[in-house]
Amino acid sequence: MLFSPSIVPSLIQEIASSIINNAEEVTALDQAIGDGDHVTNLQRGIHALIENCQEISQLDWSEVFQKTGMLIMTNVGGASGSLYGTLFIKMSKVMTSDPENQPDFADVFAQGVDAVKRRGKADAGEKTMLDVLIPVSTSLQQATDEGIALSDVLEQIKQVSIEGMESTRNMLATKGRASYLGERTLGHIDAGARTSQLMICSIADVLAKQLASPS
Ligand code: ADP
Ligand code: MG
Repeated sequence: MLFSPSIVPSLIQEIASSIINNAEEVTALDQAIGDGDHVTNLQRGIHALIENCQEISQLDWSEVFQKTGMLIMTNVGGASGSLYGTLFIKMSKVMTSDPENQPDFADVFAQGVDAVKRRGKADAGEKTMLDVLIPVSTSLQQATDEGIALSDVLEQIKQVSIEGMESTRNMLATKGRASYLGERTLGHIDAGARTSQLMICSIADVLAKQLASPS
């Protein structure tokens, strides 16, 4: 992979800031159609990742994803903990132990997203984090196939994640806690879609910065 795991502390830091800066908004989203705990759930995981980030940055990417997934699984409560945890653990399993012979990251991510779909028994259009993760994965695969420059890919996935997040506003929730509210979910953005979008944008920003001025 182009980036080394030494970038992990910057990624975690940027994600942590983004979630903190938008905590009130995300909590309000989860209060409107859920139970309001989504940010506190995520922050437990982020805290554990910050505590372990120096150690994680010494690992190879497969181990980085494995350790990240396990820390999320054990520290983040709620539906999102097992779903985000599943994403990373599956990505870790798809990677090979040979750093010279890794599948494209687009494939690794696509298989991670598929595992989330299976775990949540959900698909696109159900007003969840998958309405961000699926289009981002599709766009990443297309961009890889077309050989688009990485700086443009990063910009593109930011855009796609924002569109995906916005698209949940007019969807009817059919999975998770929000599904109990039926039609009353219309008009509200899904909290997990918003945090997926925030995290994807944070990751893209850190990678773009590193590309522009490698340290
Ligand atoms: P909980 O709903 O258990 O309180 P969180 O508040 O941490 O858990 O996470 C809620 C988010 O999880 C939702 O906003 C949605 O994006 C996502 N989610 C819930 N159920 C599913 C599912 N079955 N498949 C995919 N995502 C889901
Ligand atoms: Mg909740």
